[in-house]
Amino acid sequence: MKKTRLINKVLSLFRNRNVIMVYHDVSSADELSHSKHYSTEITLFQKHIEFFQKNFSIVSLDELAKSKGWGNRLAITFDDGFKSIKKNAIPLLREKNIPFTIFLNSSAVEGDSLWITEFILHKNELNYFRELYKEIGINVPEEQFLQDPVYMCVNNLHDRDKLIAFVKRHSRENCFLDREDVIKLRDKKVDFGAHSMHHFNIASLTNHELKIQIKEDKQKLEKILGFEISKFAIPFGKMEHYNKNSIQYCAEVGYEQIYHTNPNDVHKKDFIDGIELIPRIVLTNESLDEISFYINRTLLKKYKI
Ligand SMILES: [Zn+2]
Repeated sequence: MKKTRLINKVLSLFRNRNVIMVYHDVSSADELSHSKHYSTEITLFQKHIEFFQKNFSIVSLDELAKSKGWGNRLAITFDDGFKSIKKNAIPLLREKNIPFTIFLNSSAVEGDSLWITEFILHKNELNYFRELYKEIGINVPEEQFLQDPVYMCVNNLHDRDKLIAFVKRHSRENCFLDREDVIKLRDKKVDFGAHSMHHFNIASLTNHELKIQIKEDKQKLEKILGFEISKFAIPFGKMEHYNKNSIQYCAEVGYEQIYHTNPNDVHKKDFIDGIELIPRIVLTNESLDEISFYINRTLLKKYKI
């Protein structure tokens, strides 16, 4: 621990970089949407923001995208459009005049459910997953499915409509920003991007499904917002969750900024077929030391410390 502190102190001298942070739900443990898998405690979120203010100039994603070279800039983003951020994060950011971007899934805005979140919130309910298994007709043994339903549905599912219908029927309500929330935030000049319709692994989609998940999602969100969306955050965001075909399609429908969350590439831009992919760092309940480590880790690697 002492060593980490020292390393971070030394490396902080070299800190002159641009980073983009991703949050999901910001809530206290007793709130409906809270899960240790993706939530950030409210007081810790406040500490993170203070830390960022002290060490970076916090700018909008657009400003970061336009800026050339290193500049010690940081941008804040939220994925999935959790309702909790309206109450627990946005007031603090607005008070400090800090810009941020929210990446929305149109199905969550319109239907108040996302299968991945529902899975996490139902994670201790074996009957939920048994029933789900029977309904979706997935081609793996039940025992294997129950070991990791998220992984199974990300990688092995073919009949996605059945999954969506099941999840909708059993959804916990009031987890996501709805149309009215989104319009109110838009009126307050909040920036928005898209995150696909249902949050599937876009690398596993057929061309027909890509059209629904990416193009129709974009159109639905643009209809609500009344302006064109140019930013797209890849659902799940890791290397195995996108491929050449899906990224080409994102560019084709008009996305100009495409974001990934590969953990080892926090400063490296990735290119697929000449299309730039921009890195982000996903945060939940990290300490300030851990955040420093995340920001500096490519440097750590480079100098083999
Ligand atoms: Zn997401």
